[in-house]
Amino acid sequence: MARQHGTANGYKRGCRCEDCRAAYREWARDYMRRYRQGQRTRVPAAEVHRHIARLREAGLTVEVIAKAAGIPPETVHNLVRRRLRTVWPKTADAILGVTLDARPRNSIIPKTAALGLLDELHRAGVRAEEVECRIGWRDHSRWSCMRQTTYRKVALLYLACARQGLVPADLLDEVAS
Ligand SMILES: [Zn+2]
Repeated sequence: MARQHGTANGYKRGCRCEDCRAAYREWARDYMRRYRQGQRTRVPAAEVHRHIARLREAGLTVEVIAKAAGIPPETVHNLVRRRLRTVWPKTADAILGVTLDARPRNSIIPKTAALGLLDELHRAGVRAEEVECRIGWRDHSRWSCMRQTTYRKVALLYLACARQGLVPADLLDEVAS
């Protein structure tokens, strides 16, 4: 079978001739150079700003976010204050990897985090009594806060209903698993 030699693809397809090896070495060097350059180039922080805002809305403090991401709290503070418009790719990855699960189990969070999920459940026909029975929690509207453990129960009930197609799954993308 006719093959074009002297190409990185030739090497990747399994050819070990001198020309293909040389072409592959050059391709790999170039790839690593671009990768390292990418790591040394700061990226716009807009997505990170949005992610931190969502986490804080759901009750995570700057300290909890920093600890979960493994970065200094000052960095998160500076992002919150919009002092940083760009971040290192490593920092962006660390922060974007923080989910609502980073919240301490006994922390008190704003109830608004669960209200959207409860609304969807009610709209899908899950009765309030059933929710209360399943999660052992009664919604008193004078309360503006709830425990993280309660939120988690709401989220798991929601997830179960989403799997049955009763409610939209995308509301829960940060709670998954
Ligand atoms: Zn070859």
